[in-house]
Amino acid sequence: MSRYSLEHLADDSLLDGLHSLVEHDRTTTADLLAHIGEVARRRLYAHLGYPSMQAYCVQVLHLSEDAARKRVQVARKGWLLPVIFEAIADGRVHLSGMKLLVPFIDEENVHELVEAASGRTYREIELLLAERFPQPEPDEGVEEVSGDAARHLRDRSGVKPIAPGRFREVWKRDQGRCAYVSPAGRRCESRWMLEFDHVHEFARGGEATVDNVRLLCRAHNQYLAECTFGAGFMDEKRGSGRGAATPAPGPHLTSASGGSRASPIPA
Ligand SMILES: [Zn+2]
Repeated sequence: MSRYSLEHLADDSLLDGLHSLVEHDRTTTADLLAHIGEVARRRLYAHLGYPSMQAYCVQVLHLSEDAARKRVQVARKGWLLPVIFEAIADGRVHLSGMKLLVPFIDEENVHELVEAASGRTYREIELLLAERFPQPEPDEGVEEVSGDAARHLRDRSGVKPIAPGRFREVWKRDQGRCAYVSPAGRRCESRWMLEFDHVHEFARGGEATVDNVRLLCRAHNQYLAECTFGAGFMDEKRGSGRGAATPAPGPHLTSASGGSRASPIPA
């Protein structure tokens, strides 16, 4: 008999089972979110060659895009404010409701907002937020039309067109994709938020030659900068709170003094 065939259960047992499974599911979800939050904070996804925690969740963990987006968003805020995980674990706020809340949550209002959303449906939480945080009407007709080719390049991929002649060579060589290669040989290839990066840092005498410049996505540019200059330094630059206070060691940091910065540019 299949373990999923429940026809033999008495009504009471069936309902007991259902309730305990929902409880279990909530605590598992909270634990999962805490793991996602910590993996994201350590940027392990970047070390392994993925441009974002969301990409890692979709491509490695095989979550749907929607499930990944929701979990990563809640996990990042929950890492800063663990009461978010606690409220999901004990069933006060469901995951979808928390996803609505997190953009509005800060250190000051977290307890009050979680309390106000406790036991509410998704729709009720939407209404609660609309009342407390009324949004301005969206502007109309502000879409810009791009001009020359360099501008077009930037508009499509977020690249600042500095010295377009030289950098177009880099763009062509890297095929318009992030050139980060993980220690295991996985190339990122993201086309999102690309930036030009000096393989040997400009700040340390690296030159702006085609050989010394490569395309990196934002995540890998930041990740490699942390490997070079240290997470504490970068956190300070970004002015982040908890990350700056407690830089935790992780596999990404063990390579800080090693070869990450010299990952090869595919020819
Ligand atoms: Zn990348």
